[in-house]
Amino acid sequence: MDEERTGELREERGASRNFIETYIDKDLEDGVYDTVCTRFPPEPNGFLHIGHAKSILLNSGLAEEYGGKFNLRFDDTNPVKEKSEYMDAIVRDVTWLGADFGGKILYASDYFELMYECAVKLIKAGKAYVSELSADEIKEYRGTLTEPGKNDPSRERPVEENLELFTKMRSGEVPDGTMTLRAKIDMASPNINMRDPILYRVAHLSHPRTGDKWCIYPMYDFAHPLEDAAEGITHSICTLEFEDHRPLYDWVVRECGFVDKPPRQIEFAKLFLNNVVTGKRYIKKLVDDGIVDGWDDPRLVTIAALRRRGYTPASIRKFVELCGVSKSNAVTDLAMLEYCIREDLKEKAPRLMAVLRPLKLVIDNYPEGQTEKITIENNRDVPEMGKREVTFSKELYIERDDFMEEPPKKYFRLYPGNEVRLMNAYFVRCTDFERDAVGNVSVVHCTYDPESRGGESPDGRKVKGTIHWLSAADARRCTVRLYENIINEELGVYNKEDGSLNLNPHSEEILEDAMVEPAIADADEDARFQFVRNGFFCRDSKDSKPDAPVFNRIVSLKSSFVLPSRA
Ligand code: ATP
Ligand code: MG
Repeated sequence: MDEERTGELREERGASRNFIETYIDKDLEDGVYDTVCTRFPPEPNGFLHIGHAKSILLNSGLAEEYGGKFNLRFDDTNPVKEKSEYMDAIVRDVTWLGADFGGKILYASDYFELMYECAVKLIKAGKAYVSELSADEIKEYRGTLTEPGKNDPSRERPVEENLELFTKMRSGEVPDGTMTLRAKIDMASPNINMRDPILYRVAHLSHPRTGDKWCIYPMYDFAHPLEDAAEGITHSICTLEFEDHRPLYDWVVRECGFVDKPPRQIEFAKLFLNNVVTGKRYIKKLVDDGIVDGWDDPRLVTIAALRRRGYTPASIRKFVELCGVSKSNAVTDLAMLEYCIREDLKEKAPRLMAVLRPLKLVIDNYPEGQTEKITIENNRDVPEMGKREVTFSKELYIERDDFMEEPPKKYFRLYPGNEVRLMNAYFVRCTDFERDAVGNVSVVHCTYDPESRGGESPDGRKVKGTIHWLSAADARRCTVRLYENIINEELGVYNKEDGSLNLNPHSEEILEDAMVEPAIADADEDARFQFVRNGFFCRDSKDSKPDAPVFNRIVSLKSSFVLPSRA
């Protein structure tokens, strides 16, 4: 990126620099670093969610702002849970969000040899030893927050013997779970992470990338700082739960010899959404139990699901920006994300007519066989979006709930005797209605006022209701899906008794008989519209067929959300 753009970006953020930018500014000023290199290091054990989007956009945004570099690195140090399906999904999501990782995908497993060498270096320096304690014993020896730990019986094992045993661990002669390599730090440290943490474990597992080459795998707290150091990461940004691990992070970097411009860990608060499931573990269970249609089910908040639902990268960026970066945990409302997509689409999406639950409307005094073209703006607020012609005719569809046989107070739409405006077309007055064999209203009859063309009052008389409509002959059938939170908001996310999720059984409503304007039915993949009065919709990329499109409601039009003022 050129200097000018970098400067602009920094200026844009100007007044509201977050605490990480303040750190980085100081580091650059003090000459601690002369460039900025950040990374996003997902474990490929599931799909990314909105919380990860925050981390991705924060890290890539900083690299862009400072004219530095942003790495995408798979933390593939635990071969059991990792799958290439997840890797593909992660690359797709990061790319879609617009985070520029320079096209190069990095893997923690590429540093296995380097990590091994670092471990050997620690052993030689008397800073690591091979332990024969079991996992349970290690836990027992670790002590508690109030009591110091006990030394491992192997703590004073001579260097030569440690080297020999570690070589055996690597060569496959040692069974799983019988030996570990531990750092020799301080069993009495008030920080439990510093009480001789495990660096390596034995696990005879095949790795998706390194195959059977390794039967020892590095622990996260050892591997992660080395990956950062190897890549020249300057600011290793992670979430708050790693704050207590920072002394160990610094220890590993230093003791392994990365003393020139070592990476620096900075923690920020995770994004938490009210009444929303984000944990991979829970989402995976919903997928595995068949409760949702895969990781990209539009009711989820994985990035893939948000994309399928119809969210745009711009709306997610805006959301992350509004959330800000902080040192203290807070819960954000999903309503803010919805606000962001409405804001993004209101001037981008054409506003067309769709009738979700159709009811036939017949204009008895409109000439049989006659049709006319009505010209309508595609988006009243954006004249540049042009106009289209819509056919008007004797037989129309209206929304079922725009007619009532016996209207309650303040119902201004169609009911016997009442007059309404058909949007952009004519005034019509309801005269009668018919029922089907089971007693449901099946056809509504009305008369129109030819003088009210365009929906203008011919003589100053007013109507209180305006409803949308489609010409029955032109309307095209499609499927529309409406969504609610998959979580039962009254009960909250987790069941207090067994920790399961409190699900909302009505989170998806499928309308098979919706009718839409031809322009909607013929839309491209991923096209987004405002269906007037009904909300913003996106063509589903997975379930649509060329002659049978499916539309997902991204969000309704109304909201009580108020943009929080920035402190
Ligand atoms: P989860 O358990 O929620 O799926 P995770 O932390 O196990 O998430 P990782 O793949 O380990 O997922 O995370 C990759 C990066 O994303 C980490 O740097 C982590 O700090 C960050 N991250 C994860 N969840 C959030 C969140 N809710 N808000 C911000 N950053 C997050
Ligand atoms: Mg994790």
